[in-house]
Amino acid sequence: MGSDPRPSSPRIASTGLPRRTLDTRARIMLPFCALLLLGLAVHRLVIADPEWPGHVEITGRTMGTTYSVKIATAELSPTSRTELAQAIEDKLDRVNSLMSTYLDESELSRFNRHASQEPFAVSAEMIAVFQIARAVSEISQGAFDITVRPLVSAWGFGATDRPPEPPSEAELRELSRRVGFAKVSVLPDLQSLAKRDSLVECDLSAIAKGYGVDQIAQAVEALGYANYLVEVGGELRAHGQKSDGRTWRIGIERPDAVARMSHQVVVLANISIATSGDYRDYYEVDGQRISHTIDPRSQRPIQHALASVSVLHEQAAWADALATALNVMGSEEGFRFANEHDIAALFLVREPTGQFRALTTPAFERHREATSGQQAAEQLRAEPDAGSGLFRSLLDSGGASAPRPISRRDHG
Ligand code: ADP
Ligand code: MG
Repeated sequence: MGSDPRPSSPRIASTGLPRRTLDTRARIMLPFCALLLLGLAVHRLVIADPEWPGHVEITGRTMGTTYSVKIATAELSPTSRTELAQAIEDKLDRVNSLMSTYLDESELSRFNRHASQEPFAVSAEMIAVFQIARAVSEISQGAFDITVRPLVSAWGFGATDRPPEPPSEAELRELSRRVGFAKVSVLPDLQSLAKRDSLVECDLSAIAKGYGVDQIAQAVEALGYANYLVEVGGELRAHGQKSDGRTWRIGIERPDAVARMSHQVVVLANISIATSGDYRDYYEVDGQRISHTIDPRSQRPIQHALASVSVLHEQAAWADALATALNVMGSEEGFRFANEHDIAALFLVREPTGQFRALTTPAFERHREATSGQQAAEQLRAEPDAGSGLFRSLLDSGGASAPRPISRRDHG
């Protein structure tokens, strides 16, 4: 999970009144005026957000990154807004308290310390995530594997500092004996996990953001909102429409480490998108990029020309895990695999020239076609509503316009 164990906190407006010498009557009135002004300020925030007219946006920090929830509604009372913000925070706090490797007392950290093959009771949420992780590990034949944690630590990612030297061959071989998705299982009671090797340690960072998105979406729907766009650290899920009746659009980011530019817009109709890439979380040794994504099969950070891969899926947790799996495989193996399993994916391959080549699967194209009516065409000319992962597309087909920054309104 991300590097920020602090609880998420939605952005709250604050207001202040000038200090003046006041007569007694004014002094008595002051608290009322202050309350009134505060009420007006909050109200104005809710119904007249100049950046998002007709929408309410709640933002904050979680899992070492940011989140944003946009709801298509013009009218939301301060009470409803607080209720919504609280429901979102509760979900994120819960996911963190279960799945963070940065919190010593999270359920995951306690499971990692459970050096035994005896069953370990866990929450329903952990069972759900372990089941998705297991399924993605099985179909990807171990490219995605949450038991990769000892290797992630050895390479200096996660909650561990960067080692002075890369781990040796012998060290990696030793650690790899503790890695393998078959070494941990969900027990049939669906209430506990068991290790087949008591030294197994798990890392849910490649799936938890997506799962957090799904959980927020659930909370938002439970409060009766059907038109929303939820984003945690670039993983997104959209439902319904914006207030103007159009479908949500997101910009896939160009895979540059520095510039945050959007080149391709994807229309998101009741679907999630997640992106995995090598362009942000890495360090360099002798000019070589050491990625935080590890290929469990070689025990080494991925080393290929794939800059990023984005996956569309109904559930954000699945999209997140599949994007990591495809990223581990690389463009050739990953593209074959995505075709074989009918995964809607878009790969951005880094060319020696420094440009990016886009590869899309038939399932991704079907999504594009299904959303490319008149309305979508209109939208493609406008700014996206949020940014996802990374991406420069259509350069090869000559269809690209000049790069443009992802909308000011989003998390960038
Ligand atoms: P991001 O969306 O930030 O690019 P990913 O979703 O691809 O990241 O997850 C990368 C994180 O997942 C790493 O920081 C590490 O903690 C963990 N991880 C690394 N390699 C794997 C792997 N092969 N399978 C599952 N998790 C991995
Ligand atoms: Mg992932």
